[in-house]
Amino acid sequence: MFNQISPNMLKTYEICPRKFYFKYIKNISMPVNDEIFEFGKNIHALASYYLKGENIDKMELALTEKEKIVWDYLKNLKYLTYEVIATEYNLSLKIENSYFGGRLDALVKDNTRYYILDYKTGSAPKNAKFDYQTMIYTLAVKEFFKTNDISFVYLDLKNKTELKIDYTEELGKEYLKKLTDIKNKINTEENYSIQKECNCEYSLICY
Ligand code: SF4
Repeated sequence: MFNQISPNMLKTYEICPRKFYFKYIKNISMPVNDEIFEFGKNIHALASYYLKGENIDKMELALTEKEKIVWDYLKNLKYLTYEVIATEYNLSLKIENSYFGGRLDALVKDNTRYYILDYKTGSAPKNAKFDYQTMIYTLAVKEFFKTNDISFVYLDLKNKTELKIDYTEELGKEYLKKLTDIKNKINTEENYSIQKECNCEYSLICY
């Protein structure tokens, strides 16, 4: 039974239950594309230091050209001028006997509205409104701060666009149902079925 569930676990399960089995039940790690990972990691770290009010002059000087373009765009967005509530913040949400959790990039506030920021250096989610990250983080912020005045903002740093999802009570009910359903599904899964005609970092041990 999974009592600690992250958005990545749920996304993996949805892509392929077999992959979920390798990664989260057998705990087998496979190498991923380090270049994309490192690029995202640097931008996330820089944004976190900046929002905490640290001196980032030296870090900015060490940026590559590509990182500098992305950072200049992010730094000048209105959200980074709002009141900072938390950065790189671990949160959790309890549904029945399970805890859902993850780490949000930043939580900022303008007047009464909370904005959950997610920096995307790769691709933004296809269905952002019902992405597991959106659902878990939004409900967790709602529970912790006792407010419905919440927006989840995906900042697509590659395409310089943003996508904002405003929380409503109706949406909250849908989120709760979807998270409860998927939690029950992974906790009763038995055969972790293989996807047909697929390919992933586990292909070599899958077939
Ligand atoms: S190779 Fe295909 S079936 Fe195997 S884990 Fe990857 S996605 Fe799933």
